[in-house]
Amino acid sequence: MQLIPFNNRPLGEVRKAHFLKAFSRKVENMSILSFGSCNFHCPYCKRDGQYIDHKGNIYTSRKFHFDEVLRSVLETDNRIRLSGGDPCMHINDSLTIAKTVFAKKGEKISIAHNGSSPAFVKKIAPYLEYAAIDLKAASGAEFSERAGLASPALGQKMLENSLRVQSFLTKECGILVDVRTCVFSDTTIDDMLEIAKLISLNNDISKVFWTVRGYNPVKGVAWRKPNRETLLANLELVASAYPHLKIGYRDKWAGENFRYYNCNF
Ligand code: SF4
Repeated sequence: MQLIPFNNRPLGEVRKAHFLKAFSRKVENMSILSFGSCNFHCPYCKRDGQYIDHKGNIYTSRKFHFDEVLRSVLETDNRIRLSGGDPCMHINDSLTIAKTVFAKKGEKISIAHNGSSPAFVKKIAPYLEYAAIDLKAASGAEFSERAGLASPALGQKMLENSLRVQSFLTKECGILVDVRTCVFSDTTIDDMLEIAKLISLNNDISKVFWTVRGYNPVKGVAWRKPNRETLLANLELVASAYPHLKIGYRDKWAGENFRYYNCNF
C-alpha cells in the first residue's frame, strides 16, 4: 500500500486529539497512518499533496507491505488515525484496517478526511470513534483556491460535501467531529463568522468542535500567515457570537499550545 512514512515508518507520527478535552474525554494519542495520494492539491500541504508523480502518488510516499502495516496497527496502544493524503482515495485499505482493528482489538479508529466524500464516510462511519473533517473556506471560490481545485464550482461542491459529511457524522451517527480550518492573513472576521455559522447550522452542536490553525508559510506559496493578535481577537468575537460552538486554536502546527473557547473548564 502507498503511504507517506514518518521517521521512515508507516505509523511513526503520533499526535494528540486535543479536541476531546472539550467533551470531558482524555486527550489521547493517535498514531497517524498517512496515505500516499489525495484528491485535493492544497499548495500549503504539509504532506506534499501538491507534488504528485505520473501515477498520482505524492512524491514523498512509498510502497509498504500491507501485512507489515497491519501488524504495526495492531501493535500500537494509540488510537489509529487514517489521514492525508486522504483515506477516501484508499477506501478498501481504510475499511480493511478499520474492520481488523475492531475485530482483533474491539476498538474503533479515527479519520482525518478532507470532507470531499460522503460515500466514503458512510462506509467507514460504523468503525469510527471520532473524526477530523476539513472545512477549508467559507466560499466555493476560496475553497477551490486553498485546495488547488479546478474551479470555484468544484470548490462549492466540496464545501457542501464537507458540510454533508459533518452533518451525517454528528446528527445521524452521533460521532464527535473536529472540523478543521486553516486561516491566512487575508481571512476576515466575516469569513470566520460565516464558517462558524455553517458549522453550527449543519451539525449537532453538542458533537462538534472547530479547530482553527494559523497558516505557517510554505516556500513558493504567496499566502501570508495571519497576525496572531488579530486572529486571537477574531476568535474571541466568533466565540461570543456563537457561544454554543466549542472552538480551539492551535497556536503552532506542531506543539502543545492549544487554546479552548466556549468549553466548560
Ligand atoms: S486535503 Fe490534506 S492531504 Fe490533501 S492536499 Fe490538502 S492538505 Fe494535503
